[in-house]
Amino acid sequence: MQRLLKLVYPAQCLTCDEMIEVERGLCPTCWADTPFIIDPPCDACGRPLIGDAEEGDLCDDCRTHPRVWTRGRAVMLYAGNGRSIVLRFKHGDRTDLAYAAGQWLADAAAPLITADMVVAPVPLHWRRILFRRYNQAALLAARLAKLHHLTYVPDLLRRANATRKLDGMTAAQRAKTVTGAIRLSGRRAGDIEGRRVLLIDDVMTTGATLTQCAEACLAGGAAGVDVAVLARVDRKP
Ligand SMILES: [Zn+2]
Ligand SMILES: [Zn+2]
Repeated sequence: MQRLLKLVYPAQCLTCDEMIEVERGLCPTCWADTPFIIDPPCDACGRPLIGDAEEGDLCDDCRTHPRVWTRGRAVMLYAGNGRSIVLRFKHGDRTDLAYAAGQWLADAAAPLITADMVVAPVPLHWRRILFRRYNQAALLAARLAKLHHLTYVPDLLRRANATRKLDGMTAAQRAKTVTGAIRLSGRRAGDIEGRRVLLIDDVMTTGATLTQCAEACLAGGAAGVDVAVLARVDRKP
């Protein structure tokens, strides 16, 4: 019961010891220190744009190499406090972060939402689930789907093989490592036929994994794919 109460009403800031009253998840100091993406970002990959950006603009990368998916949003940059929130969520067993972070993600993704949308997480391989015990992308996806009243399909996509950890690899290595690794679950194919899919992950670096997921959805008959992530790594691959 106490655990449940804590899930619903976190009383402690997610990244420091400060006690908080509201459900925003962060104390005012940590909130101010977190690199939330506020101005209109790149419409495809969610990274901040430099200068006077307007809704619908694209970054240079997405203009040069159009994404497989249509639109994308990220809550925050993967830097400073944004990075520490993701790492606590990912490795620190802080599943309670999904409550506030899922709300932030639902807000960031609001411009992408359509009524018939299907929400699905980027899958973790089962061996990694055993190790980590939960898929943080699935926790975020479930919360977002609930807040926007959308169909949530946790097992839409699956990994055929365990991919090696992508940290520290170049863009080319990442693309090669994940190629062919993600498939649409056969029995879920009918769920996305003619509908838009919103893919959820915790972090987007180059977008290689999301590309694989989007390709699998489109090949499976999805009308289109959009993506939303908690944090965007904003550096050249
Ligand atoms: Zn704090
Ligand atoms: Zn972009």
